[in-house]
Amino acid sequence: MIHLTRSDYEAMTAYAREQLPNECCGLLAGKRSGGDAFVEKVYYLNNTDASPEHFSMDPAEQFAVMRDIRQRNLALIGNFHSHPATPSRPSDEDKRLAFDPSLRYLILSLAESGPVLRSFRIRGGEAIAEPLHIEEEESHWQMQISRN
Ligand SMILES: [Zn+2]
Repeated sequence: MIHLTRSDYEAMTAYAREQLPNECCGLLAGKRSGGDAFVEKVYYLNNTDASPEHFSMDPAEQFAVMRDIRQRNLALIGNFHSHPATPSRPSDEDKRLAFDPSLRYLILSLAESGPVLRSFRIRGGEAIAEPLHIEEEESHWQMQISRN
C-alpha cells in the first residue's frame, strides 16, 4: 500500500489541473516500511514534452531532485503523471518506459468529473494496481512512520 497525505493529494490535483491541457509529472520521495510506502515529499517537474498525451522529465530537474532527496535522507519511491483525457491506468508507452519494478507509478486521471488517482507497480510490461491510502491526519501518519 502507498500512503499519501490529503494535502499532497490536493496539491497534486491542483498542479495537474493547472498544467491542462498537457500532462503533468513529478517524483515522490518518502520512506518504505515493510511493503508500504509513505510519501513525504512530492516534487513537481516540468513536462518537457508539453503534450496532452505523453511526458518527459527534464534530466537537470531530476538530478536536482535526487540530490535533494538524498540530503533529506529520504528514498525515491515513485513518480506520478496525469492523464488529462484517459483513465487512470498505465498506457502501453507508460509500461514500456517503466524501468524500475520497485517504484510506484501513480496516475492521476482528470477524464472523469472528479480526479482519480491510482498507484501501480510495473514489472515486465505488466501493471498491477496497489491500494492507495489518502491520510487525512498528517500528525497521526508521522507517528506511524517513527514507530516503524
Ligand atoms: Zn500515461
